[in-house]
Amino acid sequence: MFIVPEKDIAGLMTPEAAFAAIESVFAAMASKDAYNFPVIREDIGHAGALYGFKSGFDRKGLALGLKSGGYWPGNADKGLTNHQSTVFLFDADTGQCRAVVGGNLLTALRTAAASAVSIKHLAREDSKVLGIIGAGHQSVFQMQAAVKQRNFEKVVGWNRSPEKLARLATCADALGLPFEAVNLPTLASEADVIITIASSHAAILSDAQVRPGTHIACMGTDTKGKQEVEAAILAHATVFTDEIAQSTTIGEAQHAIAAGLINAKDLVEIGAVINADHPGRSSADEITLFDGTGVGLQDLAVASVVLDLAIAQGSAIEVAF
Ligand code: NAD
Repeated sequence: MFIVPEKDIAGLMTPEAAFAAIESVFAAMASKDAYNFPVIREDIGHAGALYGFKSGFDRKGLALGLKSGGYWPGNADKGLTNHQSTVFLFDADTGQCRAVVGGNLLTALRTAAASAVSIKHLAREDSKVLGIIGAGHQSVFQMQAAVKQRNFEKVVGWNRSPEKLARLATCADALGLPFEAVNLPTLASEADVIITIASSHAAILSDAQVRPGTHIACMGTDTKGKQEVEAAILAHATVFTDEIAQSTTIGEAQHAIAAGLINAKDLVEIGAVINADHPGRSSADEITLFDGTGVGLQDLAVASVVLDLAIAQGSAIEVAF
């Protein structure tokens, strides 16, 4: 088996490769060639940690395995990333362990790729302003991937703690785009595409603020109880998601469904749009919303690409196991 250490991932993986892997696995999910297994997420009662597994099998790409990891709130004090994850890949023909791959950077790249895929397939072609709600670790990856999908001319950002917005300003500057820190009504009135990537348990963006024609990629809500947008937005939008089962239980749709505003059958898998089985956006005034909950197959897809690259470049560490 092979090991691809976390420190090697940045030199191997590109946002472009992550985008291609995620677009392809979303398509495979919608055509039922790939499926995710139920998510395990546990409060382990030690170090304040939330620990779990996301896993699945892609019959087409033969990616079988899991991402194991979670959130350790005390890690920052130890000079470590609070979110820790590792991907394990198995041989689909024999069950033998194929590889252990560092999953921290891959998680950021695959999450950013998911919203970028939604922008490619759902945002208005003439989108000019990108709005970002949230300025944490994931936010810069989101911006870097999103700006490749449309000819954005400006980025506007909001965060609960405004001092963190310097991170978004620096990122936009490096991408050659002007950045403006704004309040929420201004963000919603200017942005053609809005990415929400905060860690919130209450709606940040309200229904009244959202303009017709906006595409919203909700990326921060990946757990029961989290929420970034008012549930009524989902009733007025066409709602797309990575996986319906996750969207209704741990994604933004959990709230709109609980409130009786939408049904699970109203949700469309983004893969159906990629496969041209659903038209996606149908008018310039339609509000489209992508509920990106983060599925295990995304992790397997990017880890498989990195493993192939590491083997091809001779940097994968081979161990007898
Ligand atoms: P982070 O801790 O680095 O940043 C969190 C951000 O949310 C900060 O900007 C913080 O100021 C803001 N925030 C915190 N509490 C808030 C509140 N109550 N209201 C408004 N804003 C608040 O986190 P991160 O690593 O950038 O991740 C952001 C979110 O994305 C998390 O919820 C994380 O679980 C989620 N996530 C989702 C996926 C996915 O696939 N969908 C993948 C990775 C992370």
